[in-house]
Amino acid sequence: MGHGGPGWEVDLVTGLRCHRCTGEVVCAVRVPHSFLRADGTEVGGTRLVALCPDCDRGRAGAAPVIAYFRAHGQVIADRVEELAGLLREWVADVGPARVGELEHSAR
Ligand SMILES: [Zn+2]
Repeated sequence: MGHGGPGWEVDLVTGLRCHRCTGEVVCAVRVPHSFLRADGTEVGGTRLVALCPDCDRGRAGAAPVIAYFRAHGQVIADRVEELAGLLREWVADVGPARVGELEHSAR
């Protein structure tokens, strides 16, 4: 996609399953993730965080994103900016510390 946000990219993955309820997720966003190894070396990478319409329903930042996909069914090209703004709020709410619950192998 390559739609740049503040360090993360919208990475829409279809057919992805929620690891919590096994339902199909609305979308997934790739965000930067770094951690310290035992020897103190910082390792940078990315992780994929999925938005589940059931498990994340109560999350403040998630509701507008879910509503967007419910309304449009997909990303509308001329409304990408709108979606990016919604996703930004959701990602900020999820927070990098909570990212990483989804296995990379799910892709
Ligand atoms: Zn779920």
